[in-house]
Amino acid sequence: MTLQTGLVIDEVFLKHRTGPGHPERPERLVAINRALGESGLGEKCKRLPIRKASQEQILRVHTTKYLDRLRDACVRGDQHIDSHDSAICQDSYDSALWAAGSVLEAVDQVIAGSIRNAFCAVRPPGHHCERTESMGFCLLANVAIAARYLLDHHALSRVAIVDWDVHHGNGTQHIFEDSAEVLVCNLHGHPDHVYPGTGYESERGKGDGKGATLNVPLMPGSGDDEYLRAFETQILPRLDDFKPEFLIVSAGFDAHARDPLAPLELQSESYSWMTQRLLEAASRDAGGRLISVLEGGYDLQALSESVCHHVRRLQDHE
Ligand SMILES: [Zn+2]
Repeated sequence: MTLQTGLVIDEVFLKHRTGPGHPERPERLVAINRALGESGLGEKCKRLPIRKASQEQILRVHTTKYLDRLRDACVRGDQHIDSHDSAICQDSYDSALWAAGSVLEAVDQVIAGSIRNAFCAVRPPGHHCERTESMGFCLLANVAIAARYLLDHHALSRVAIVDWDVHHGNGTQHIFEDSAEVLVCNLHGHPDHVYPGTGYESERGKGDGKGATLNVPLMPGSGDDEYLRAFETQILPRLDDFKPEFLIVSAGFDAHARDPLAPLELQSESYSWMTQRLLEAASRDAGGRLISVLEGGYDLQALSESVCHHVRRLQDHE
């Protein structure tokens, strides 16, 4: 029997409200859910139960001080934490726990062999969040928490993260920059032009992790040709050298030409071939074990089209 693709999407992620005019808004998930429903892709997926991450799982990545600060800020009714970018409401702490925990559910089901791979449409997103502070709409480092869980709970020793969000995943990189167990590959708009201003090629990891950080900054205007070259000459060879046992995609869809937040030029279809290439890489060494986790993507139509291309490829890959 062919295993299904798992899907995490739930109303609990709509409770993280960011206020009028904020690009990282609940409507993003509403649009994704509608598109997956209308295309028939949603019902072909196995809907995964949501769960909250435990304190212990989160504290493998974040400090107690930060987690307490995040909880207290939400309980108090603060409107943001650490910067105006990271808008919060009273339900945001719970939403963040649900987001991080539901990614762990996807991890568990892939490891157990009950699904083939999974797409986690969660929010708040995670890849900018540092150990000790929120950044760029991100409240908990969902993907880093999942990678840490694979190492600690599932006793893997090599996990790869590919972050194709147009913004450099500074948080994920910094959390693992001195670890040889987690390869962090980032494709993003060049830091001289695009938030958050990190992710230069010269950032390659530290100490034991030297060489386990790969940054591929792309100039404004880059599209399929530049991304394909980056995959073929840098990302895929590095994955093949590393031989990951599990691959996690930090799947932002904001390198799309229609996205309002960055000057890159991918099309909705681009997310199909990029998904295909990563599935092939996961098949070579990781037994096909791959999950993807939503990060950015702010034009609702571009986002939902791109997610459909991504999910269709997750389902169709042989
Ligand atoms: Zn982004």
